[in-house]
Amino acid sequence: MVTTGEPGARRLDCTGADVVPGAVCAHTHLYSGLVPFGMPPPAPPPGSFLQILERVWWRLDRALDAESLRAAARDAVARALLAGTTTVVDHHESPEFIEGSLEVLARACEELGIRSLLCYGATERNGGPAEARRGLEECRRIAPSPTRRPLVGLHASFTVSDGTLREAGRLARELGTVVHVHVAEDMADVLDARGRGAPGPLERMLAQDALPPGSILAHGVHLSPEEVELVNRAGLWLVQNPRSNEGNRVGYPRALRFGERVALGTDGWVADMAVEEAALLRLAGDAGDERAAGRLAAGHALVAGAFGAAPAPLAEGALADVVVRDGRGVRHVVVDGRVVVEDGRLVTGDPDEITRTAQREAVRLWQRMESIR
Ligand SMILES: [Zn+2]
Repeated sequence: MVTTGEPGARRLDCTGADVVPGAVCAHTHLYSGLVPFGMPPPAPPPGSFLQILERVWWRLDRALDAESLRAAARDAVARALLAGTTTVVDHHESPEFIEGSLEVLARACEELGIRSLLCYGATERNGGPAEARRGLEECRRIAPSPTRRPLVGLHASFTVSDGTLREAGRLARELGTVVHVHVAEDMADVLDARGRGAPGPLERMLAQDALPPGSILAHGVHLSPEEVELVNRAGLWLVQNPRSNEGNRVGYPRALRFGERVALGTDGWVADMAVEEAALLRLAGDAGDERAAGRLAAGHALVAGAFGAAPAPLAEGALADVVVRDGRGVRHVVVDGRVVVEDGRLVTGDPDEITRTAQREAVRLWQRMESIR
């Protein structure tokens, strides 16, 4: 490979390897990074999507504090980088630790060197409109940097009022960014919107001006082809999360094949996009979805748009997020020109220390979760 660079620039050995763009995880939750460290199963086992939220994720998020969040984020980011994922689009919630939570995530991402788009998912489910306002204000606190962009987050249509929807759209426009929200992940979201007089959560949010062009809609499992057409016309992104959808048994998002902008996310699972894509292709085959193959690559345009870079990776004007792979896996990872993984090893942090801290914080987190009912 012939390269040009500044005199004295470092050289990485790419002999016998492929140079590929860094992978994009277009929807995740770094806060669930301690789950691989033995999260106890919920009891009694959840029987519906809402029970999964109530017995698992809405207890986990309330148990988070600064130290457990930091440990979760560092472990999740380290695993992502080692898997060749160079950008995470995160959606965060920690209702007992709202103010300052995004700073914890921003520091973890910056320290280890991953590109990030961060937001707090505003919700009213614990503390009403005042809780949502605090969530939106937290989004405002994230300053952009060469490797970080703020988003405005909403949990989902079914946990916020019209006022919060309007406020989120207004704030996103003020900050020059977009809204990141779960949409039609389960029928519960659709039925809630219908109960409020809208055809569905998408139409409800559009009617409240909550979705500036470029906004990111996670899931869309229960959107119809006509609704995906609406998404296209509004210039919005959809993000499919195959392992999560399968695990939560919410169904396959059949209408996403009609989407013009559909990326791939992990929804809190380890951000190894090769594993996620394998799950996607397996499930897409069963569902007869022939357009699934482009979803991982589509994430590059989503991220390039947020950072004002050329949409095609590894081209003039593209982000300097590059992975060198060989037969054994990821050899080197470069994010924004910074070497973060070299010869398969994380060089921006001590993986043993990150794991030990995660193990210690996980024990504390499960104890706190146990006390939350
Ligand atoms: Zn999610």
